[in-house]
Amino acid sequence: MGDDRGPATLRPGDLCLVTGGAGFIGSNLVRALVARELRVRVLDDLSTGRLVNLEGTMDHLEFVQGDVRDADGVRTVTQGCTAVFHEAAIPSVARSVADPIATNDVNVNGTLHVLMAARDAGVQRVVFASSSSVYGNAPALPAREELLCRPISPYGVSKLAGERYLQAFWESYGLPTVALRYFNVFGMGQNPRAEYAAVVPRFIAAALEGTPATIFGDGEQARDFTFVEDVVQANLLAADSSPDAWGQAFNVACGRRHSVNELHAEVQAAAGGTGVPPVNESPRAGDVRESHASIEAAHRVLGYSPAFGFADGLRRTADWYRSQMERGLL
Ligand code: NAD
Repeated sequence: MGDDRGPATLRPGDLCLVTGGAGFIGSNLVRALVARELRVRVLDDLSTGRLVNLEGTMDHLEFVQGDVRDADGVRTVTQGCTAVFHEAAIPSVARSVADPIATNDVNVNGTLHVLMAARDAGVQRVVFASSSSVYGNAPALPAREELLCRPISPYGVSKLAGERYLQAFWESYGLPTVALRYFNVFGMGQNPRAEYAAVVPRFIAAALEGTPATIFGDGEQARDFTFVEDVVQANLLAADSSPDAWGQAFNVACGRRHSVNELHAEVQAAAGGTGVPPVNESPRAGDVRESHASIEAAHRVLGYSPAFGFADGLRRTADWYRSQMERGLL
């Protein structure tokens, strides 16, 4: 198992590939990599990502419009890379329930292409965007990584399959991999208008517009809302990690639980909402009731420590959306 490549601290000038780099999380990560004077290549098919997310960084990166399902294309863009951050995916539980085949194609086959290309190009670290949805309705909270994963959505299954492939590529080929299980990420650049938009940008847009937000179910379902800057921090730490992290999966979260009703109230405060009451609709298939992470392992092994609380992150996010709205960009 493994080899003696040792921990590769990313150095200025090293080339990093970010798949899905025009998306919400990917573009925030790209910005951080550029700030560290790394060379960045982005592979994105722009299906949900947008070039506007890369505004201000385009001069510092190479953008390739392409699909992770195209094995040859992935191989080409992986050449010369020190690290690969694999963010590209169909990222929605609801969409996976509607079309599990498409989710499997992109999230599982696409991940396998990325791993094959990384293995053959001698990449020193592959960091994978996994998800809290691998747990399903976890029997014990806060969820710890050693829990038996029982995903309840095709999306969760696809992310667990991706994780297992990362583990197998470490065990079988010595490719250093780290999977990060993100918990409900929010922040700058998340699209509130997307067909399967996430709850935080939908609530903020509704508050800024003075329209009612939609809550699926009674709103007492809870999530561990995580600010995107903390997710970026975890990715950078994973890229610089030592062998005890390789082949493993780590929760990346804030470590606190908040109900969707609490989120709604907090967003109203952060975005200066006018108190328009939300509208409740039926719960959605595939959505778990409770999600709450233990971040002890990420702290111990990666040195991860979230720097932003829920209210602080929401305030920063709401400020960003307000400025986007004023510029006519939302
Ligand atoms: P996003 O939709 O903004 O980003 C996904 C990016 O991947 C987009 O830019 C999209 O155009 C690109 N993409 C999709 N299919 C592709 C394909 N076939 N080839 C190339 N590019 C493709 O979503 P996000 O929230 O930024 O999610 C990023 C990653 O984090 C995803 O892997 C997602 O599953 C994971 N994740 C996100 C969250 C969250 O709360 N946002 C939680 C857990 C995991």
